[in-house]
Amino acid sequence: MLRVRDLTKTYRAAGEEVLVLRGVNLDIAAGERVALSGESGSGKSTLLHLIAGLDRADGGEISLADAQLSDLPDAGRAALRRDRLGLVFQQFNLIPSLSVEDNLKFQSRIAGRHDAAWHSELVERLGLSGLLKRYPEQLSGGQQQRVAIGRALAVKPLLLLADEPTGNLDEATADDVLALARDLVARTGCGFLMVTHSARLAATLDRQIHLHAGLIA
Ligand code: ADP
Ligand code: MG
Repeated sequence: MLRVRDLTKTYRAAGEEVLVLRGVNLDIAAGERVALSGESGSGKSTLLHLIAGLDRADGGEISLADAQLSDLPDAGRAALRRDRLGLVFQQFNLIPSLSVEDNLKFQSRIAGRHDAAWHSELVERLGLSGLLKRYPEQLSGGQQQRVAIGRALAVKPLLLLADEPTGNLDEATADDVLALARDLVARTGCGFLMVTHSARLAATLDRQIHLHAGLIA
């Protein structure tokens, strides 16, 4: 479902070159849940950004289902990201001026994929029914991340990408939030790629991979 081949990326900033990815290969099957670890600065976020089409690789190929990212213009990659991918970040990234309910519906509405029955199921499973009228600043970190996961999954994406989604949560909350994410990923059948520093959390997914010296081992 996700296929990454020979992916390379070098950053050029202030006359300096940083070779981050040296030929990354990765496959994720539909419904497969993969944990990505690697030391700070090893390129984990870079890899997620490239898969999400937020940045362009220097070389190599990324395909998601039948779409080849490098063949798409910027608008096409944005459409693919909106319609087929769910993104979750460490900082939650909810829209402060929107209620929980409107945050949840945000991506699916823009994508034209709002599904009322699925929305209700997400609200129920994520335990958000009592919080729909609140605003992000009125939520705990764990509650905010549950909303972010719901927003990302509302489009029933092909792939959920999460960059250290539990990095700002205490251990017990991290366990709860990840358990919900795993259940919902199983329910939708999408792939799941999660960056985490926690070996304990990584062990709860199907497969563990490591980024080191620009390659996946
Ligand atoms: P990780 O998420 O594994 O901590 P990143 O992917 O964020 O690592 O960064 C990998 C390397 O690329 C680091 O050395 C970082 O400083 C560098 N880097 C990341 N983004 C940029 C950028 N936009 N410009 C220049 N260098 C960058
Ligand atoms: Mg990172």
